[in-house]
Amino acid sequence: MSVIDDLKLIATGRVTESEPMAGYTTLGVGGPADYFVEVSNEDELSALMLYISRHEIPWMVIGDGANLLVSDRGIRGIVIKLGEQFSSIEVQGRQIVAGSAARISRVADIAAKNNLSGLEGVGTVPGSVGGAIVMNAGTHRGYIDEVTDSVRVVTDTGEKKTLQRAKCGFSYRNSRFQYDKSLIITYASFKMKTGDGEAIAQHLEGVRKHRADTQPQGKSAGCFFKNPTGLSAGGLIDGAGCKGMREGGAVVSEIHGNFIMNAHNATASDLYTLAEKVKKLVKDIHGVDLEYEVRLVGEW
Ligand SMILES: Cc1cc2nc3c(=O)[nH]c(=O)nc-3n(C[C@H](O)[C@H](O)[C@H](O)COP(=O)(O)OP(=O)(O)OC[C@H]3O[C@@H](n4cnc5c(N)ncnc54)[C@H](O)[C@@H]3O)c2cc1C
Repeated sequence: MSVIDDLKLIATGRVTESEPMAGYTTLGVGGPADYFVEVSNEDELSALMLYISRHEIPWMVIGDGANLLVSDRGIRGIVIKLGEQFSSIEVQGRQIVAGSAARISRVADIAAKNNLSGLEGVGTVPGSVGGAIVMNAGTHRGYIDEVTDSVRVVTDTGEKKTLQRAKCGFSYRNSRFQYDKSLIITYASFKMKTGDGEAIAQHLEGVRKHRADTQPQGKSAGCFFKNPTGLSAGGLIDGAGCKGMREGGAVVSEIHGNFIMNAHNATASDLYTLAEKVKKLVKDIHGVDLEYEVRLVGEW
């Protein structure tokens, strides 16, 4: 049997070959994944990982693609997506257990409805629970690690495990899951504080409106580069005169220099070439090495 036939026997979600990735990323770029597999529960994911490890097939998992720059050549091997079944959100007292595929903003809204505080900082950021944990997403109002109690994972050999917060290796915009590629997050448990639900909901709405009013609208992955300690990447990019720079269909936003946008049917290479030019100018002018926040994935 071929790989695709095997995969169709393992997973009950969408299983395809040569799946274009552009539709799975907020930047709207990216060539085909050799195989795309959507799993519907942890048992399917376990069986899939066992198959992958036995056949030594390269793989990666995606969330909502809000932080991904996928190459034009695409991704070799299998791209795994957790299906709708992983979008559950359960409130148990001051504990919230959410599936990896749930939108983090939805979890924050449900927390507010239940008078639970702690996800206000990350609840205005695009993306899934799984992606937010991997990226330790958030804002100066708070990051997801602050309320993460434990994380359920399936390993690359199909084992199911629970990791307590201390084992998640959180730091600024980083977590263990960025360098330990053997783990797929399936659920997360958040330890919340009691709060004033109405005030939390108003706060979330206010920040979302502020973001919509002040951040560039269109195809982006948010900030391309991490803020170097004590500095603003956007300020450095602005100071290096990069705002408005273009490469093919990619442009450095005039509104926020750290947003490199797919403005006019850009390719992944347009975006990457422009980002590298920005990086070089910032280095030449300010002597600072910018580090990518966006994850460059696929065959470059
Ligand atoms: C307009 C805009 C504004 C943004 N503003 C912010 C902001 O203010 N603060 C901030 O922190 N971020 C911001 N971002 C970036 C983005 O929202 C976050 O990084 C988000 O957490 C990514 O989640 P995702 O589900 O899209 O993950 P993806 O982009 O799909 O994946 C990110 C990484 O996580 C891995 N991954 C995803 N799911 C899993 C899983 N279940 N198990 C294991 N690994 C997994 C992927 O392999 C990849 O390495 C912004 C993005 C946009 C488009």
